[in-house]
Amino acid sequence: MENPLTPEVLADPVQLTRALVDIESVSLNEKVIADCVEEVLRGVPHLTTHRHGNTVMARTDLGRSQRVVLAGHLDTVPLNNNFPSTMRGDLMYGCGTSDMKSGVAYALHLAATLPDPRYDVTYFFYEAEEIESRYNGLTLVGQAYPEWLEADFAVLLEPTYGIVEAGCQGTMRAVVTTTGERAHAARSWHGVNAIHAAGEVLRRLQTYEARRVTIEGCDFREGMNAVRIVGGVAGNVIPDHCEIEVNYRYAPDRDPAAAEEHLREVFAGFEVTVTDAAAGAAPGLDAAPAREFLAAVGAAPIGKLGWTDVARFAAMGIPALNFGPGDPNLAHHKDEHVEISKIRDGAATLHRWLAPA
Ligand SMILES: [Zn+2]
Repeated sequence: MENPLTPEVLADPVQLTRALVDIESVSLNEKVIADCVEEVLRGVPHLTTHRHGNTVMARTDLGRSQRVVLAGHLDTVPLNNNFPSTMRGDLMYGCGTSDMKSGVAYALHLAATLPDPRYDVTYFFYEAEEIESRYNGLTLVGQAYPEWLEADFAVLLEPTYGIVEAGCQGTMRAVVTTTGERAHAARSWHGVNAIHAAGEVLRRLQTYEARRVTIEGCDFREGMNAVRIVGGVAGNVIPDHCEIEVNYRYAPDRDPAAAEEHLREVFAGFEVTVTDAAAGAAPGLDAAPAREFLAAVGAAPIGKLGWTDVARFAAMGIPALNFGPGDPNLAHHKDEHVEISKIRDGAATLHRWLAPA
């Protein structure tokens, strides 16, 4: 196959988005698209290019005092009668248009056309973000070549509809257990009903007022919810045991220990067992490249409510945020599409930020 990523296509983020969408790359099938991207980057004289699996990394080494990462995943979720791309007015439809080949197009366009960015830049085009983390290209690079990830700031080009989504919330699951005493249902006054006791747990959840916090200008909205309930012995037995599984999404000013303490406060008097926890990530917007990035975007950032690879950089002490033209609500949908004007606006923003002063 001839490489569709010609110099003319690379010069235009819209054409480039379309060309990338039209190379099928469902997770674990990224070889062809990675070959195309690698071939392009190896031909760019101001970049050093390496490949690990189907992840391609290219970097400038201009001796700048700061280094930034621009990263996009090459894979998509499975096709759903939405391949190849189609155009309808200002909208480009197709698998990966929003999540996230329009973002990948930014990185590839800048890598190929900007020889003298104001920061040194490491560009990542990585495999397998949409499936389990052990296949994720950034996981694999982190194991094999952790030094490739070193930077002062990172932008993940995931769909955010042209605004900045910074940091991410933490998540914790816990089981709240109520106990009682079994008895025959015909003589229920001899027992204590553990399912009835669950009523108090549910009442606390129902009246729980979730916190909203602003951290570095980003709003985070917490949530605490029952996600599963199990109890009961038989149709004629007063139950002595009931479990309510609770999921708590918490803002990144709380670490997992503080989140657990809060959970235990809410369910004081009940047995609480934490079963799973992942830390969130603070926005980290005070680094110079981050501040300049926000100035280039010119709109207030918001907190990221889900978990993304931003947390991976945050865990390494590298402030990171999400920024891309796609609508995150359309990601993984059959009708996935991206607005052409959004692609152009975001490309101009990144250019303002990275072009030499
Ligand atoms: Zn994505």
